[in-house]
Amino acid sequence: MPPDALYLHLPFCVARCPYCDFVVYAGGDARGPRARTERLYEAVGRELELRADALDERFGRAASGGPRTTLRSVYFGGGTPSLVPGEWLERLMALVRERFGLAPDAEVTLEANPGSEDRGDPAGFRRAGVTRISFGAQSLDAGELRRLGRRHSPEDVAAAVAEARAAGIGSVNLDLLYDLPGGSVAAWEATLRTALALAPDHLSLYALTLDDPDAEGLTGRDGDHLLTPPGARRWRERARLGQDDDRAADQYCLATDLLAERGWHGYEISNWARPGHESRHNLAYWERRPYEAVGPGAHAFDGATRRWNAAAMEPYIAALVPAHGAAVARRPRTDAAGSGWRSATGRIPELPPGGMERLGPEQIAAEEVILALRLDYGVDEATASRPPLNGVREWAESVGLLEVVVLDGQPRVRLTTRGRLLSNELFARLV
Ligand code: SF4
Repeated sequence: MPPDALYLHLPFCVARCPYCDFVVYAGGDARGPRARTERLYEAVGRELELRADALDERFGRAASGGPRTTLRSVYFGGGTPSLVPGEWLERLMALVRERFGLAPDAEVTLEANPGSEDRGDPAGFRRAGVTRISFGAQSLDAGELRRLGRRHSPEDVAAAVAEARAAGIGSVNLDLLYDLPGGSVAAWEATLRTALALAPDHLSLYALTLDDPDAEGLTGRDGDHLLTPPGARRWRERARLGQDDDRAADQYCLATDLLAERGWHGYEISNWARPGHESRHNLAYWERRPYEAVGPGAHAFDGATRRWNAAAMEPYIAALVPAHGAAVARRPRTDAAGSGWRSATGRIPELPPGGMERLGPEQIAAEEVILALRLDYGVDEATASRPPLNGVREWAESVGLLEVVVLDGQPRVRLTTRGRLLSNELFARLV
């Protein structure tokens, strides 16, 4: 199947938060005379063209004249995509519509920071077609925000949500973090209640994780992560001392109970929505449907193969915009080199460096089960009765990690709340 979801990674932030593992370029890369923003946006546009060309070859033309499925969701992630000027957002969206096709009711999400200097212009986002904004609120406690190195205040979050609503954004998400160093269950409850008072439609609640991507071998030449700066490493070493697994479990259970009382749908391990506001784009990941992706460090999936772009920005730009500033002329799609573009110097843009992994049958089976178990409707009996889940199901039920429930008249096997807390114990046995 052709992808019906598209992710665009726009990596710029005003400043880099010490706990962040995303592909982010901050400071002078993002603002000022040496900023690399325009070059990157141009390269992202070029990658969109090349990926659309490849999909056209494989599946036929897009909405303009062929059977390729139109997109049901587009997601601008980062980084802080709310820093992208409105005109660039409109250009990228026009390209998406032209080359991929966009369903009339498509969900178009933009990640934003709530601070006044980087939350951007929600009216401009709305004009470009954004239907959903996801704010990186992280906490609504001023002290916790300071300890996290965030530049915004709780009042900024309230103002950002109000502005998004006034601009006609129909769905608003708040990202919040628990298991913060020096945090408490009481402070977490206060953050949750304050967040609910802002009347968002969706909450993503993540435990603060302080992994070391360097140790996982993800930061090489074609790796999808950047090296962690030394200052961030030192910050993480100190922060880990202030975390507590038991307190984190209490915080998670508190959120689960509080949101259930209010009628929220806990549809994924870390995600809750008012009914009807579940993230269509993120469901494509968990339901293992094909998705396309562009931008440094972005990951795509076609049903059998995972591919990623390298995180490094200069090789990304150099491949896609080989003679920056030179006019680039469109050529017929029959171009022998497979590209519809050629720069004034004659160099043809190439797809950026990166990697890919073709999944074997056992990996696919494990991945299907693990992703489905993240969702509240879990897996059906047939899936639970074959490898890899059948080998551990009895154990997982006996220790209270899995339960059988009846949904829509059918038995489903899913994680209990305890299973959600300890899901990695189960998932490690499935691979
Ligand atoms: S604002 Fe978000 S993306 Fe940017 S560095 Fe902080 S956590 Fe990472």
